Amino acid sequence: MNTLAKIADDIRNSNVCELAKSATQAVPGEGSENAEILFIGEAPGKDEDLQGRPFVGAAGKLLTKLIESIDMKREDVFITNVVKWRPPNNRDPMPEEIAQCWPFLEAQIKVIKPKLIVTLGRHSMGRFLPGLKISQVHGQPKRGKGIWQGKQVYLPLYHPAVALYDPRKRDTLLEDFKKIPLILKKLKEDGL
Ligand code: URA
Repeated sequence: MNTLAKIADDIRNSNVCELAKSATQAVPGEGSENAEILFIGEAPGKDEDLQGRPFVGAAGKLLTKLIESIDMKREDVFITNVVKWRPPNNRDPMPEEIAQCWPFLEAQIKVIKPKLIVTLGRHSMGRFLPGLKISQVHGQPKRGKGIWQGKQVYLPLYHPAVALYDPRKRDTLLEDFKKIPLILKKLKEDGL
C-alpha cells in the first residue's frame, strides 16, 4: 500500500528530474493524509529548498493566513507543488519538469483522495485545467478530469506570491478563499 511517507521517500531518492541536481533537497509536501483539500502550488522557492518544506517563505506565510481566515489550520490540509525541486533562480518550471514530477503528484492525490483541489497560480492550474486564463476563472469551482475518482472539482486561485506586492490581489484571494467552505459543504451534500 502506498503512503504519503513512502511517496516522500521515493521523491527524495529520485533523480528523475534534472532539477534534483541543482536543488538543496526535495520538497515533497506536507499535511494531513485525510485532508479534504489539497493545495497545489508551483515549485519550491529559496526558503522551501533550504527547509525541505512547502510554502514556508513569504508567500507561504500568506497562504497560512489565508487558510486560517477560513477557520482551518495548515495541518488540516495537504500542501504541495507540481514540481518537487527548486528551479534555479526561481525561474518558471518547464513543461518537461512538470511532466517528470507528475507521477509523484498523481500518487499523492490517489492516497489523499481530496474532495477539492485548489490550484495556486497558472502553472498548477494549467496541469489540471488547460487552456483557461486565471484572471477570468479564479475563484470559480471547475469540474475537471478525476485522478482518484471519475470527476474532480478544482478551484483555481491566484498564487499567494502575486498578492505580496498587490493589495488588490490580496483582497481577491481573501474573497476567493471564503468560497472554499461553501464549495466543500456542497460537495459533501452532493455525496462526493
Ligand atoms: N511558491 C510555490 O509555488 N510553492 C512553494 O512551496 C513556495 C512558493
